[in-house]
Amino acid sequence: MPRPAFRQLALPTQAPYVDRMPPEARATRRRLRACHECDWLMALPPLHSGEQAVCPRCGHAEVRRHRYPAQRSLALAIAALACLAIAASFPFLAFSVRGVGHGIDLPQTATDLIAHHAPLVAMVVLLTILVLPVLYLLAVVWLQIGLLGGRPLPASRSAARALAHLQPWMMADVFLIGTLVSLIKIVGLAQIALGPAFWAFGAFALLLLATNQSVDRDWLWFALAGEPPAPEGSQTGRPAAPQGLTGCHTCGLVGRLDAAGHGQCRRCGEPLHARRPHSLQRTWALLAAAAVLYVPANVYPIMTTVSLGRASPSTIIGGIVELIEMGSWPVALVILVASVIVPIGKLLALVWLCLVAPRARGDRSLTRTRMYRLTEFIGRWSMVDIFVVAILVALIRAGNLMAVEPGPAAVAFGGVVVLTMLAAMSFDPRLIWDTPTSTADEEAPQ
Ligand SMILES: [Zn+2]
Ligand SMILES: [Zn+2]
Repeated sequence: MPRPAFRQLALPTQAPYVDRMPPEARATRRRLRACHECDWLMALPPLHSGEQAVCPRCGHAEVRRHRYPAQRSLALAIAALACLAIAASFPFLAFSVRGVGHGIDLPQTATDLIAHHAPLVAMVVLLTILVLPVLYLLAVVWLQIGLLGGRPLPASRSAARALAHLQPWMMADVFLIGTLVSLIKIVGLAQIALGPAFWAFGAFALLLLATNQSVDRDWLWFALAGEPPAPEGSQTGRPAAPQGLTGCHTCGLVGRLDAAGHGQCRRCGEPLHARRPHSLQRTWALLAAAAVLYVPANVYPIMTTVSLGRASPSTIIGGIVELIEMGSWPVALVILVASVIVPIGKLLALVWLCLVAPRARGDRSLTRTRMYRLTEFIGRWSMVDIFVVAILVALIRAGNLMAVEPGPAAVAFGGVVVLTMLAAMSFDPRLIWDTPTSTADEEAPQ
């Protein structure tokens, strides 16, 4: 016989949607989570603002608690949108050499690439620095206004699901570094003026990062849809998959899977899998495609500088050598790390993880998980060189004196970055922890 009083207390409609009380203070039963990186089933502890709950087995942060998460992310998102509006409507950079030059707006860094027959690169730039961040910020504003008003606005669940999918593809911070690198590259050749949009974009990139940090997904989903009880018989301190359970990647709720290892989240509706379907095959395929594209990315010029009618194409490596010859060691190092060491390192690391995952022994799982986290974190920074090309193509145009054209390697290198990011996403880090003994013998650390 279920305990009716207990059930009644835990219904989300009994409590106001957003108040100063975190979910722990309002849920009367234990809230279970399955670690996204090692599949360890655990109960969330009560958290105060500024604290985070980490997995006892692999150290992955499951929940970060902020003070007033709804108000904070709403304020940051509105501020970020305001900065972006300024950044998009005022001059971004201006360039002149011997009295000839012009200024550009921020959207021109993408649109000028279309005029130079590089529509794919233009699309990547437009999506990662403008379109996706705007969608993300609007979703945050929509969600938090509804929650603060006491009643979620229509499509709030879809907006909350979209946040998780948009987040890895926003690259305003990488674009900012790309802008700085471009400026250092040309500072000796021409006069550069920074427009108001440059400073507004810097503020936007920082505010976007802060908004992203401030969204407390655990609190958000609790406020939107409460916390349905964990499946009967869930045992913490053991991996979830052998119990037929899994954690939702979007909202975190633990759900039961059918015999084939699939299911649907009861809270957010996302599909659930014991392990990502065909994780290793997909990762291998994406890595192979990235490796193939890496060849033209390095053989062909990434951009061509036309100076007084003379065209001098430069490859990625050639550009680094040029920078060293100019004496710009720090920028050469940034490009070397972002365009050579990170993509190759990431490819090799994922190949190695795919090779060792099926033969996991358990003793090195933590080191391998750390390596996986690193590849996932650094991958997007390879985009710096693509953004440098986009900025230089738009900015450097001084009649016959000087101009920059994008080269075929820009598309290929952009493809390498996107494919390796997709490969890291399709790799399921829980495979690193799957050992034949993990069902019965493994002990909980601590
Ligand atoms: Zn873990
Ligand atoms: Zn879910």
